[in-house]
Amino acid sequence: MFLGGNQMEESKDLAIGLDLGGTKILAALISRQGEILGEFECKTSAGEKRDAAANILFAINSLLADTAADRNRIIGIGVASAGIIDSEQKIIHYAKNIGLKNFPIGTLLEDNLQLPVRLSNDANAAAVGEWIWGAGRGKQNVIYITVSTGVGSGIISNGQLITGIHDSAGEFGHITISHDGILCECGNRGCLEKYASGTAINERANQLLKNGETSSLLSIIEKGLVVTNKEIDAAAKQGDLFSIRLLKEAGEYLGMGVISLIHLFNTEAVVLGGGVMNMAAFILPSIKETVAKYGIPKMVNGVEIKESALGNKAGVIGAAGLFYLNNDAQVTMN
Ligand SMILES: [Zn+2]
Repeated sequence: MFLGGNQMEESKDLAIGLDLGGTKILAALISRQGEILGEFECKTSAGEKRDAAANILFAINSLLADTAADRNRIIGIGVASAGIIDSEQKIIHYAKNIGLKNFPIGTLLEDNLQLPVRLSNDANAAAVGEWIWGAGRGKQNVIYITVSTGVGSGIISNGQLITGIHDSAGEFGHITISHDGILCECGNRGCLEKYASGTAINERANQLLKNGETSSLLSIIEKGLVVTNKEIDAAAKQGDLFSIRLLKEAGEYLGMGVISLIHLFNTEAVVLGGGVMNMAAFILPSIKETVAKYGIPKMVNGVEIKESALGNKAGVIGAAGLFYLNNDAQVTMN
């Protein structure tokens, strides 16, 4: 899958990670130990191809200038991108949130910076980061799940990142949990992310409050405002039963999905990241309870279910980590 360069040369002990998100571009210089030695962040310009390219180059050039990094020590630039990508051609086919279409990220970076480039989707990159340096370190079977505006995952099975034929393996958010459920943008009904993503939690909260649920959040709705997830989390922590119920339900939906992943992959650890995990106080215990209650005991007992160790840096660190994978997507170190 990842062509060009097998083993990391000893003298090249640094890599650049680039995380292309919906609102920001994050470039970071990453050591062989997975430490962030320097980072530079700028806004992603949505829509205009030329602007996005200019911003990406600006971010990396600024990082190189700020850190005064020795180019000879840099093995390459690993890119984590949302959307549909082709890791072999190094093209971002379509990333709605970033506003990119048929974007030749590989050519752009290789031509302008004369460094090798590797590309992965963002959930897979984050999975690689957690696997090599984070909460899944030392394990051969790890599943990373990101819960933010959407839901995604990256799967490491028997010491290998599972990419699938189109780099789309692990589209966890679009597994069906209700065959006649809520209509999803993907065209299907009842996809997990329509129930458990940050967007879904928020929409459901506001809808239920408008319908007159009893909650300390009701005053916000009565002012004509929209309740945020931060407010839901704060209310839950202050004992608001409505908010607690909402977050627990999201955890139950995620838990049902996690059971399927454990049953499919017989994994050792499930690592959860993404913005919604900022509300882990109620969601994570609910996931664990659901898995323990409904999973096949022999398979779910002993599986570690825990929060990400790298947090919102998992993507950028994991992007650099792509240079620690060989052509079979196996880790070449640790
Ligand atoms: Zn869907």
